[in-house]
Amino acid sequence: MMEKRRLYMDYSATTPVKKEVLDEMMPYLTDYFGNASSFHTFGREAKSALDKAREQVASLINAKPNEIYFTAGGSESDNWALEGIAYANRNKGNHIITSKIEHHAILHTCEYLEKHHGFEVTYLDVDGEGRIRLEDLKNAIKDTTILISIMFANNEIGTIQPIKEIGQIAKEHNIVFHTDAVQAAGNIPVDVKELEVDLMSMSSHKIYGPKGVGALYIKTGTKLHNFVHGGAQERRRRAGTENIPAIVGYGKAAELAKANMDNHISTLTRLRNRLMNEILERIPNTRVNGSVENRLPGNINFSFEFIEGEGILLLLDMLGIAASSGSACTSGSLDPSHVLMAIGLPHEIAHGSLRLTVGDFTTEDDIDYIVENLPGVIERLRSMSPLYNESKK
Ligand SMILES: *Cc1c(COP(=O)(O)O)cnc(C)c1O
Repeated sequence: MMEKRRLYMDYSATTPVKKEVLDEMMPYLTDYFGNASSFHTFGREAKSALDKAREQVASLINAKPNEIYFTAGGSESDNWALEGIAYANRNKGNHIITSKIEHHAILHTCEYLEKHHGFEVTYLDVDGEGRIRLEDLKNAIKDTTILISIMFANNEIGTIQPIKEIGQIAKEHNIVFHTDAVQAAGNIPVDVKELEVDLMSMSSHKIYGPKGVGALYIKTGTKLHNFVHGGAQERRRRAGTENIPAIVGYGKAAELAKANMDNHISTLTRLRNRLMNEILERIPNTRVNGSVENRLPGNINFSFEFIEGEGILLLLDMLGIAASSGSACTSGSLDPSHVLMAIGLPHEIAHGSLRLTVGDFTTEDDIDYIVENLPGVIERLRSMSPLYNESKK
């Protein structure tokens, strides 16, 4: 029997751990298992691994090692940044500015702060490509604004925001600026010195490191409340015995990402563009969502008219292709994604959306396989669609 092909095209959801990363991690699960807070040799071994990883992650974004705080992932970093800044600045004001296309780790934290802690949040609209308008941002600022949180790059449509310009506006108004850079840090160049960013969220598992570990960059001098209370770890700012094997893996993943950045970007961009162009050529009534210029290298997001994203995912999965749709089927709701709604897609178009993301293990052969198979999948679903048959008349 021929083994079923397994083709992963969902690198924005998560990535596999690279061999070099795993090799670095393994000894810290067995031989060097110490608690980094312990005084003895075992403890010191763990502590020096922790220090090294901190330098590796700092170097990825041009930060100082003591500005990096390890967390349990991007979601915790987002929660910490928002709640920590909000509570620490309560006496100055209660207004927060974010955008409509943020990850739920930001949106749901904002909703929580509104509902239970008396904060007021402005959710900025975005343009058709998914970029905020700087004018809108300036107009939204009030005397009570204490925080601006705008994501670096969007996880669904790949749109990259004008982070430097946003940082300048925040600085002019003396407002703290946080960015969720989970999709950016390690995939495209990110330099906190150049960007006027005060806080930045990052995660390991989007850049070929293990899951459940991430970091919050906190610029020197930024005051915020703690989020996880307990022991004195992370310079008294984030309690809990450090997950040394995961942190070591994250450090290695960050080092590899920095070293391979140019090649990573050019290879992914080439594969992605080929996929995009061939699909647009072969499948009529298709549009690409997001920006052409300001886009993550590995991301493509299509809308195929007349059909439903879930149907596409199901048929692709039967062919061994793992992709993601633009409808929030995971959350059990039938609403299309908040991101596709925010860029102005009509409901019925948003429903027929498909996100394909390529990564460091994607080959030309993989692209061939999708280009050969996707048109048939779309055609089959359309042939069953009353809307499509109507449009043909
Ligand atoms: C994946 C992701 C997160 C959440 O990170 P976890 O490490 O999975 O908690 C937050 N923001 C963005 C933009 C993401 O893509």
